[in-house]
Amino acid sequence: MATAEGGDYIKPWLPHEQPERPFDEGTWICDCNACAMALHAEARHSPFTPMCIKTGFDRIIVAAEYLSETITAATPIESLLYVTDDWVREIFVPVGSWRWKATATRWWSLMLHEDEDIAGRGHVRHQVARGEDRSVVDLRLRYFASQRPSLT
Ligand SMILES: [Zn+2]
Repeated sequence: MATAEGGDYIKPWLPHEQPERPFDEGTWICDCNACAMALHAEARHSPFTPMCIKTGFDRIIVAAEYLSETITAATPIESLLYVTDDWVREIFVPVGSWRWKATATRWWSLMLHEDEDIAGRGHVRHQVARGEDRSVVDLRLRYFASQRPSLT
């Protein structure tokens, strides 16, 4: 099987066009029923296949199983986002997916990861989605303000 390791490039494809195909690093899902069915099948077969949710502000990695549970419960996908008022742009299997699979990650946010760095908190494993809180946002804004080069 081709992977992104070694520079092979997998052409992007949508499950509604190839419903039987297991997910790989070329998989993108849209919001149609056939893509949701394929996601549920993938989640049963391989619960920790990572799905990257590209949003306006963030990159969320969510296990196929968790995304499947969210859709099955008719919970909005936005409930998986970390940043308040963020929005979903695209959902796909990220490059390096085998690494995510190996760590059995259920939920991860790039923005939260950076917030943990700024807060000097170290990285904890998150099993469920969480939203940002006001104190973290204030800390982030102060951090970026302090990084701004002075003009004097
Ligand atoms: Zn589709």
